[in-house]
Amino acid sequence: MNSPLALLGGEPVITHAGPHFSWPPLDEQSEAAVVRQLQDNISIYDRSGVIERLEDELCEYHGVTHAVLTSSGTAALHSMYAACGLGPGDEVIVPAYTFFATVTPLLHLGAVPVLADCDESGNLDSKDVAQRITERTKAVVVTHMWGVPAAMQALKAITDEHGLMLLEDASHAHGASIDGQRVGTFGRAAAFSMNGPKPLSAGEGGFVLTDDDEIYYRVLLHGQYNKRCRSELPRDHPLYEYAVTGMGLKFRIHPLAAALALDQLGRLDHYLTGRATTAAYLCERLSELPGVIVPELPLGVRASWYGLPLQYAMNELDGLPVERFHQALQAEGCREVDRPGSTCPLNWLPLFQRPETLFPGYADKMSYSPGDFPNAEAIHRNTLKLPVWHREEDMPLVDKYINAFRKVTENYRDLLG
Ligand SMILES: *Cc1c(COP(=O)(O)O)cnc(C)c1O
Repeated sequence: MNSPLALLGGEPVITHAGPHFSWPPLDEQSEAAVVRQLQDNISIYDRSGVIERLEDELCEYHGVTHAVLTSSGTAALHSMYAACGLGPGDEVIVPAYTFFATVTPLLHLGAVPVLADCDESGNLDSKDVAQRITERTKAVVVTHMWGVPAAMQALKAITDEHGLMLLEDASHAHGASIDGQRVGTFGRAAAFSMNGPKPLSAGEGGFVLTDDDEIYYRVLLHGQYNKRCRSELPRDHPLYEYAVTGMGLKFRIHPLAAALALDQLGRLDHYLTGRATTAAYLCERLSELPGVIVPELPLGVRASWYGLPLQYAMNELDGLPVERFHQALQAEGCREVDRPGSTCPLNWLPLFQRPETLFPGYADKMSYSPGDFPNAEAIHRNTLKLPVWHREEDMPLVDKYINAFRKVTENYRDLLG
């Protein structure tokens, strides 16, 4: 390829206008499902209709006893933490590298988040977790970043050894698994988002999974008051007297969102199979190029590929800054190559540096600074994220993205100096 880089005035590799990727994949079947629900019922107070069907299918898909749908992933996390009894005086070890909503509900409950660094995979490092355990630690929360399962065996060994709860934020990782065991089933409970771009999408929504009856009752009391609580808590349960009000929050999912998610869940494994093929192809081709490190999955691990997180290795391209490399790819028409913004090391965000302006109780409880989590910060700085297409018909575009990467890595010297 001798043509000059598009960033320097040459012809871009990809010329067709976007979008190059859209999610979730919607078709007539999805539309029909939503229209049917519109005609049937758009306000469901109990566990009936589409709520019951989707919760049952989520239980079956994951092999768990209870699923509770919520209005968002943030709400699911909030209910899960409340149900697990996390509150004032408790420390909860969380990833420094995650989307902030993994952690922010803890601030509303008065629990203290203790950030921990990641390993080279970008997921929570069990060794760093072990060092942050104190007598106040009650739980460890893990996020499966970009859909790649975290090292659950090592994490579980530590939480078991110390008698801590293990909780999952599986919002990136619907359907991902380790040795056939789906993420969301490794700990006491798990929370998922079904926000727009997530592997399983309701547009907006979320859910909690658990095998534990008591956690299930408390998830209901936290955000699903009255009818659901009255019909699902046993009458002789000590918490039954609170069934009418619950804890007074309302986190119900919209039935139209549930109908969409039910339609998508039936096709999730098909999507993931397509993504696995594309991800393997992209990794094979991109790993040949200097400056690009592709994720490696341990044997038996299946990812959901919410994104394909590539690591940029500046040293392999004579110190070319990642910003310049990214600009060059964008100029070649790779508009979907993303440097994640709001999903960043949490110690970079004002909320985790100076929480007291918004959460006065945290004045002397939490104060992080840039530099606190070297692995998370280096990984974040060098992450270039690609979407993982699932359809055969997208492969020509995938090839163009690969060609654009090749062109930039072959001509990177033109960008130096
Ligand atoms: C999307 C996401 C959330 C929040 O979910 P919402 O449905 O947007 O509230 C939480 N954690 C992670 C890791 C996420 O990606």
